Amino acid sequence: MKEINTAMILNLLHREGRLTRAELTNITKLSATTVSVLIEELIEKNYVEEIGEKYAKGAGRRAISLQINKQGGYVIGISFGNHYLTCAVMNLHGQCIAEFKTKIAIGNDPIAEQINVALCNCLNQVDSLEMELIKGIGVSTPGIIDSNGEVVLFSSYLQLSNFNLKDHISKAFPNIPIKIMNDSNAAAFAEFYSGSAKDKSNVIYLTINEGIGSGLIIDSQIYAGFQGAAGEIGHIPVDPGGEVCTCGARGCIETVLTSPFILKKCQQIALEQNVEIPLTFEDVVDRYEGGETWLDPIFEKIQFITTFMIASATNFVSPEVIIIEGWMNQSPKLLDKVKQAVQAFPFPIRFNSDRILPASYGDKGALYGAATLMLQQIFSASVLK
Ligand SMILES: [Zn+2]
Repeated sequence: MKEINTAMILNLLHREGRLTRAELTNITKLSATTVSVLIEELIEKNYVEEIGEKYAKGAGRRAISLQINKQGGYVIGISFGNHYLTCAVMNLHGQCIAEFKTKIAIGNDPIAEQINVALCNCLNQVDSLEMELIKGIGVSTPGIIDSNGEVVLFSSYLQLSNFNLKDHISKAFPNIPIKIMNDSNAAAFAEFYSGSAKDKSNVIYLTINEGIGSGLIIDSQIYAGFQGAAGEIGHIPVDPGGEVCTCGARGCIETVLTSPFILKKCQQIALEQNVEIPLTFEDVVDRYEGGETWLDPIFEKIQFITTFMIASATNFVSPEVIIIEGWMNQSPKLLDKVKQAVQAFPFPIRFNSDRILPASYGDKGALYGAATLMLQQIFSASVLK
């Protein structure tokens, strides 16, 4: 019981920032004495600090505010992206105090070696830090993770197979909680915990760039599905005569919405119509935004399929919000059309387009999610004992 109450107080302070003892008593419905006793313990353990007075409501009395002591502990986040491996040390406020980024390798052993280098580099940047203050390490990676969050069973992109990441990191950090998670799930968690989807219980997170990833939060929990394979929304077939996808099937959503396919298509059409051939995907988006009409048919199809994807997912899961990360945030013209089309879709319950939001962590969602999930574990008290 005491652990649950401690966790409740820590979580409140973590999510709300600053609260007084009276406010904590009020929100938790615990007795004032219980709150006081627990707070004293947390102050003693350096997890919570007093930060001066704030005006209390009513009588004009002043009360001492409390907040999480950001130097009470640290977590490490490691993220394997499409191009980079990023490692960061974060304090208990989720602020990054050291970061290392390197072009990512391929395969179990090269990536294991890169993790060692990244951890060493990050910890060298904060060499005054006592190692016992490191409270957890979270790693996010593309691919399928075992249900214990220890082994990357398979990642085609990084050519990982049965890679026991937890074992590998444990060699250097034997007594620290370590958790491995899928990158899209981690990014969804970051948005849910402290980003665009804060205070929402049901969230769909979509990242659309060179591939499509999605993460689901259902009833405030990450939903990974059977064998961790939920959320492969990019491989829903929508175009029977379309291009062959990276998965081997023909006409997946990815073949319509992702940058390599769109660029290739636009280059073909530019050649046919004798307009200047776009050399980069950014150029394509800029020229569409700039009003070049030869791009309209391609972007109409993109808009139609994006709307189809969001409407299908919404009908299936009924999320409070849909968070979008990736190239579409650089095209307000397209995104506006998608929002209008989704809003006009005949859902059983009216859907307002302000439920579609850009990701607040951008492409750092997976890194912040990996670290944030460790923060959440710290604040769930069992780690505090
Ligand atoms: Zn596919």
